[in-house]
Amino acid sequence: MTKITIAIDGFSSTGKSTVAKRLAKHLGYTYVDSGAMYRAVTWYAMKHNFINKERFDIDSLVSHLDDIHLNFVFNKEVGFAEVYLNDENIEKQIRTLEVSNFVSKVAEISEVRSQLVKQQQKLGKGKGVIMDGRDIGTVVFPDAELKLFLTANAENRAKRRFDELIKRGEKVLYDDVLKNVQERDYIDSHRTDSPLVKAKDAIEIDNSDMTKDEQFQIILDLVNKTLKEKS
Ligand code: C5P
Repeated sequence: MTKITIAIDGFSSTGKSTVAKRLAKHLGYTYVDSGAMYRAVTWYAMKHNFINKERFDIDSLVSHLDDIHLNFVFNKEVGFAEVYLNDENIEKQIRTLEVSNFVSKVAEISEVRSQLVKQQQKLGKGKGVIMDGRDIGTVVFPDAELKLFLTANAENRAKRRFDELIKRGEKVLYDDVLKNVQERDYIDSHRTDSPLVKAKDAIEIDNSDMTKDEQFQIILDLVNKTLKEKS
């Protein structure tokens, strides 16, 4: 059976990973969360004090990039692959608002991007992959058979992310989450290397007023249409 590559890009907290995980399960595809890789590098930088509120020692981070070994290991209980940094499961650590507050600065660094893009391309070599991020349809898999670009208004996205963080037990304020979402959108869209832009051949989906099921169905129809055209 034909297998394709599905690239899902879009702004922060547009529900990319939720729909990608569900789709991967439905199709028997591999899901790769590229944002988790940028978050893992950020967490490493925080742990080594290369980045904090006062300073960002880019040179030190870049010189340590070869010491950062990332892996995804499927966890049956949660139903998706969790990220490991040098054999330590850091799935929980990378989802905090603190990591979110630094990650876009780390993701601006070209050396970080080229290192991670190489790994992402390797993970997607065999097709049958769904990857979400900011540059998947433009840089990582420019030849992906199906490219989606998800958007939603910032307030809806911040509310979703806020609910998620509260559910995980983090003590956060809605206004801080909204500020983070808006700042990341700005940095991600304005950086020099691989900015967040909609690929020319991507299909845009604004899910501000859609339920998760409605969005899933729309995307599944697009996948089936693409598979039909390719077979
Ligand atoms: O997807 P997620 O919100 O976890 O991504 C965290 C951050 O990682 C983004 O705000 C962006 O700065 C960076 N990122 C990126 N390119 C990707 C995926 C994520 O620059 N492909």
